[in-house]
Amino acid sequence: MVPVACDEGAGGGRGPPSRVGALACAPVSEPTARKPVILAVDDEPAVLAAVARDLRRGFGARFRVMRAASGAEGLEILGELRKRGDQVALLVADQRMPSLSGTDYLLQARRLAPEAKRVLLTAYADTEAAIAAINEVALDYYLLKPWDPPEEHLFPVVEDLLVTWESGAALESGGVRVIGHRFSKASHDLRDFLARNRVPARWLDIERDGEARELLTVVGVDAANLPVALLEDGSVLERPTVLELAERLGVSAQPLAEHYDLVIVGGGPAGLAAAVYGASEGLRTVMVEREAPGGQAGQSSRIENYLGFPAGLSGSDLARRATDQARRLGAELLTVQEAVGLRVEGSARLVELSGGGALSASCVIVASGVSYRQLDTPGFPELTGAGIYYGAAMTEARACADQHVVVIGGANSAGQAAVYFSGYASRVSMLVRADSLAKSMSHYLIEQIAGLPNVEVRTGTEAVAAEGSQGRLHALRIRGADGSESLEDVDACFVFVGAAPRTDWLDGVVARDERGFILAGTDAREHGWPLRREPLVLETSVPGVFVAGDVRARSIKRVASAVGEGSMAVSLIHEYLAAPA
Ligand SMILES: Cc1cc2nc3c(=O)[nH]c(=O)nc-3n(C[C@H](O)[C@H](O)[C@H](O)COP(=O)(O)OP(=O)(O)OC[C@H]3O[C@@H](n4cnc5c(N)ncnc54)[C@H](O)[C@@H]3O)c2cc1C
Repeated sequence: MVPVACDEGAGGGRGPPSRVGALACAPVSEPTARKPVILAVDDEPAVLAAVARDLRRGFGARFRVMRAASGAEGLEILGELRKRGDQVALLVADQRMPSLSGTDYLLQARRLAPEAKRVLLTAYADTEAAIAAINEVALDYYLLKPWDPPEEHLFPVVEDLLVTWESGAALESGGVRVIGHRFSKASHDLRDFLARNRVPARWLDIERDGEARELLTVVGVDAANLPVALLEDGSVLERPTVLELAERLGVSAQPLAEHYDLVIVGGGPAGLAAAVYGASEGLRTVMVEREAPGGQAGQSSRIENYLGFPAGLSGSDLARRATDQARRLGAELLTVQEAVGLRVEGSARLVELSGGGALSASCVIVASGVSYRQLDTPGFPELTGAGIYYGAAMTEARACADQHVVVIGGANSAGQAAVYFSGYASRVSMLVRADSLAKSMSHYLIEQIAGLPNVEVRTGTEAVAAEGSQGRLHALRIRGADGSESLEDVDACFVFVGAAPRTDWLDGVVARDERGFILAGTDAREHGWPLRREPLVLETSVPGVFVAGDVRARSIKRVASAVGEGSMAVSLIHEYLAAPA
């Protein structure tokens, strides 16, 4: 039992803060124990009392604010909360503490509460340490002391972090229940779809959860018919496809208009930016997305170099914010719908959809990005979704606790994944074909990885086969730098070996280069451009059809450039609409 667990937060609201410092410590097991916890740690009693007081004043209605007078005590409390299954939403720690610095505490705390947001309290003189901690402990924010007035300096930051945390927690706790085998591709696809489309859902592993077996009996479904989705309205879907589930959940909406000013194909950063700018600038805008908004960026565990987010932000957070923003500004989003063809009929551009029907528009932006290249190494195709995954597959992270995870690839995306999985797995091996990471990975990531004791970078190595039993991955045959091969036990393998555009649906309509990237501007002029005027910078060989982001030939493969091109394409569309010929 933990000796102290203070500030129960029952007062909540925005009332006067005066009583908090004097509150007696309350046992963790009181009735409010199920509220998610904010844990503040500081060795200076006055500062600790002040931060707890302000946190309680701002967030006590939704969260239980607890305090600890040292890092060690904080870790003890976290251990106890974890044992009880209590949720921890936010960790706040002072950097300067005598035995365990704030950074060291947060590093250890991350293992006990990996989902919690992390804030470091610093004095101006400690700014350097705080910036270093952004990488070391995946810090979400550093807050300069003093933070008065809290309404200006503390509450907005903490509210933003807590809303982000809450949206993640809500996703895992509610709504749809999916019962299946962890190592089944069909189960993985459903979970991935639900998580990426931010549908609140709970995953129940038939092998590990007694509740899963009980539920199957209650609904009378045979285990041979997994996966099963149990919806909130009581319906039971046996072995649903992603599309069937999407339709039943209303995730895949129908278009509302006969004709749009702008149809955007692809909901990655470029498409989302185009949706935000298009809708906000008065264009009737619809965005079509094959899987889930966010694109590749939505798979990134931490984007570190997007301007204005010094502590980085997760791809799913960026996707959530951008999707909300696009919707709020009036853009229609059609997800789980794939563009499969493009036709030109007079001044109309028709985008054909996989589900049948077409969207008519004056202009189109193709922002369909690139997709992961799949390995045809023996064993890989068969075990995809059953231990082998393309992209970060963040839905799998928690299931990797205390396991051996292999990440294949040497670029930033692989590096980010290694860092992310190191927070869950006991051991992460990176298999890198080149003899160093230096040419393919950013310096900051190389340094970050070097500081992680459970990540091993194995250069000059590659996986030459995957072996499974009972339908799941068990081992990889790995060829080392000296040419020798060994069979190693592996629980999960995440592959990041480059990406290619999927633009076959534009065959014979829009000019592309030999690798399938779409030509624009002066490049398009050389390839069937039909008009006397010059194509606009992001205009393709078809007037009124624009391209933005990674799918454009010679594009810079970055979130910021995709966002830039998405917004720029909209401004070019205004120019086109003003004088279309
Ligand atoms: C793991 C990972 C980490 C990364 N980290 C960083 C980073 O830290 N910093 C950085 O700057 N960049 C990073 N990148 C690169 C960055 O994510 C991309 O440059 C960016 O997402 C490109 O945006 P986009 O909108 O052009 O394309 P994408 O993000 O590829 O999005 C394209 C979207 O179009 C959809 N789509 C495709 N075809 C169709 C179709 N026919 N119909 C309907 N929809 C379709 C796809 O499903 C997808 O959602 C990372 C990439 C990965 C994979």
